[in-house]
Amino acid sequence: MAATIIQGTAIAAALRAEIAYRVQALGYQPSLAVVLVGEDPASAVYVRNKDRAAQGAGLRAETIRLPADTSEAALLTVIHRLNADPAIDGILVQLPLPPHLAARSVIEAIDPAKDVDGFHPINVGRLQDGQAVLAPCTPRGVMKLLVSAEIELRGARALVLGRSGIVGRPVAAMLLAADATVTIAHSRTVNLPDECRRADIVVAAVGRPELVRGDWIKPGAAVIDVGINRLSNGQLAGDVAYEECRAVAGSITPVPGGVGPMTIACLLENTVTAAVARRA
Ligand code: NDP
Repeated sequence: MAATIIQGTAIAAALRAEIAYRVQALGYQPSLAVVLVGEDPASAVYVRNKDRAAQGAGLRAETIRLPADTSEAALLTVIHRLNADPAIDGILVQLPLPPHLAARSVIEAIDPAKDVDGFHPINVGRLQDGQAVLAPCTPRGVMKLLVSAEIELRGARALVLGRSGIVGRPVAAMLLAADATVTIAHSRTVNLPDECRRADIVVAAVGRPELVRGDWIKPGAAVIDVGINRLSNGQLAGDVAYEECRAVAGSITPVPGGVGPMTIACLLENTVTAAVARRA
């Protein structure tokens, strides 16, 4: 029997509606500041989508656009101003930054209480400790999709494919906190197909189109595809060979329409969480 499709678009819409309802009840508008350096077209689209989604949920969103040749000192001055501004609840610096800017120093300059991307080392550490308040948005989206598909996490064998600080590692930490038995695979993993075949849950975040094949999937497994890859024909593909895996898996996310929409919804949720915590 073909897998159940985990409908990220609908699940994200429901989450955004729930956030809008929470915001209405707050009596103030949580506010998100997005800093965009340079003119990278993909980043510009992401920022516009974040801005639109934030406003749609009743949040206040402001985008600070800086030229591509902004110095690190000038960018840090902007971050310090946003940190000190009591009207700002969440700060997000859109990555990637132009090559002359060190993302690490910029992220470390953000007040951890306003770090709605969850990338500040303090928030990374809290996540590893199972004490996260602000956790990275895409991994949170992955976990919400698993929960809404009613996938049993406790005791499940989970394989996380990819070990980036943005997706792979935080997803692994969250699965571990949910009592899964977690393996993290990467480019040096020996016999990736066999690692995959043992897993009840596969989360693919590698950035290699259709790397995960149908015969790597344990029958009935849950497959979450984080990958977003633009093919030469202009189409989008995930890291999972969707049709092959769908025939074997118990549940699977599509690309697009799976993890992607959850990322922005979780950003809005983090902004509300930051606002409530700061203003308590
Ligand atoms: P990175 O490039 O930072 O990390 C990729 C990881 O995959 C690395 O750990 C790398 O291993 C591993 N890897 C690469 N090739 C292979 C291979 N052939 N076999 C096994 N492992 C491999 O990517 P990100 O984590 O930032 O992103 C991953 C994907 O998720 C991308 O497609 C990206 O576009 C997408 N993405 C989607 C988001 C969404 O909202 N849906 C948000 C963020 C990312 P090693 O460490 O050894 O190099």
